[in-house]
Amino acid sequence: MAQILITGGRVLDPASNTDKVLDVAIDNGVIAAIGAKLPQPAGCTMIDAQGCLVTPGLIDPHVHLREPGHEHKETIATGTRAAIAGGFTSVCCMPNTSPALDSPESMRFVYDRAAHAGMCRVFPVAAATKGRKGEELAEIQLLASSGAVAFSDDGDCVASAGMMRRIFTHVASTGRAFMQHCQDPTMTRGAAMHAGAIASRLGLGGWPREAEEIIVERDVRLARKSKARYHVQHISSAETIDIIRRARATGVEVTGEATPHHLHLTHDVCDGYNTMGKVNPPLREQRDVEALRLGIADGTITVLGTDHAPHSQDEKALPFEEAPFGFVGLESALPLYAEALVATGLISWARLIALLTIEPAKLCGLDVSGLGKLAVGGPADVTVIDPDASWTLSKETLAGRSWNTPFLGRVMKGRAKHTIVAGLLRK
Ligand SMILES: [Zn+2]
Repeated sequence: MAQILITGGRVLDPASNTDKVLDVAIDNGVIAAIGAKLPQPAGCTMIDAQGCLVTPGLIDPHVHLREPGHEHKETIATGTRAAIAGGFTSVCCMPNTSPALDSPESMRFVYDRAAHAGMCRVFPVAAATKGRKGEELAEIQLLASSGAVAFSDDGDCVASAGMMRRIFTHVASTGRAFMQHCQDPTMTRGAAMHAGAIASRLGLGGWPREAEEIIVERDVRLARKSKARYHVQHISSAETIDIIRRARATGVEVTGEATPHHLHLTHDVCDGYNTMGKVNPPLREQRDVEALRLGIADGTITVLGTDHAPHSQDEKALPFEEAPFGFVGLESALPLYAEALVATGLISWARLIALLTIEPAKLCGLDVSGLGKLAVGGPADVTVIDPDASWTLSKETLAGRSWNTPFLGRVMKGRAKHTIVAGLLRK
């Protein structure tokens, strides 16, 4: 296997508190050495990383790869291509496929397809209930031993408190985390966007913040009792962050996740019935955007996830109420996070890289296999980032199958220049 030498970059590895200009040598799929002025082996691939950040491969704990069942939107092959373009070496895919990822066979399917695609690593998040219907518990133990890195019924919330309690008990015994899509369905029937002035003016069904907060409040109580690890996906409401902050202060193992779009956009995007502003949970108001940014700055929110959700143009062209929820996000995530959090002075590059590497690795138990960090002898998953690269997001720059994103045409600062997975240069 080819050797790679990355020279002169700022090596940022939050797990080992490294922040220094160093070289990184890769050999046979693992990191062979990290140090100053490393020797150049004959025939190795040289990467000049001057002016760049050299970080552990980025990890996205929340993507939708649509396979099996919705291959016209995305496949494991096209979605992982988008991941590589965005600097991600590992992604965790949600189980709302067709059929749902709720069996050992489906776990194997994901691993096989990802290996066949040969781009980034893919780790399946298994459904917690059969068919994600919320009625019958999935075979949690069997799924964990078949490679499920976490559990979630994402796309839907586990609405029943009784079922949620059973899930927590079973998931806690596996050591995995449960990831909740927090949406009380009785409060969002027919809702298409944030319940506010714009929804009223457009005559669209409004989606209140409480639909999210009530579930988080309930789940925190249940998680405390069962000692389960609980993860709140794609936070949209300012008050949700307060609930998580209080719960963490009392020792509940709860983590929160923010998406690039909730860190930037408000319900204004939906005006004029623009379906490129339609996402679940909905874009809300400026105070929610501010609270999310501050929640990351004060350490309440520790994980970033794109909720990469591809849909075809035909689907997004439907009338607002019928159009599907969601945006693609893998390729634009890194510059959008940097713009919201680093350029504003809220956090350092080192903290941003932690939120994209060791923190999601711990959430999904990937740190145990050496992912999310740079360690000699560990897997050579490395991302080389040019923090100053200026580029424009366009359909042509997107490597996935769909281009449903409200950020098209936006000038981005910062980009993954190289993405290395298991010692292989993928970009
Ligand atoms: Zn979701």
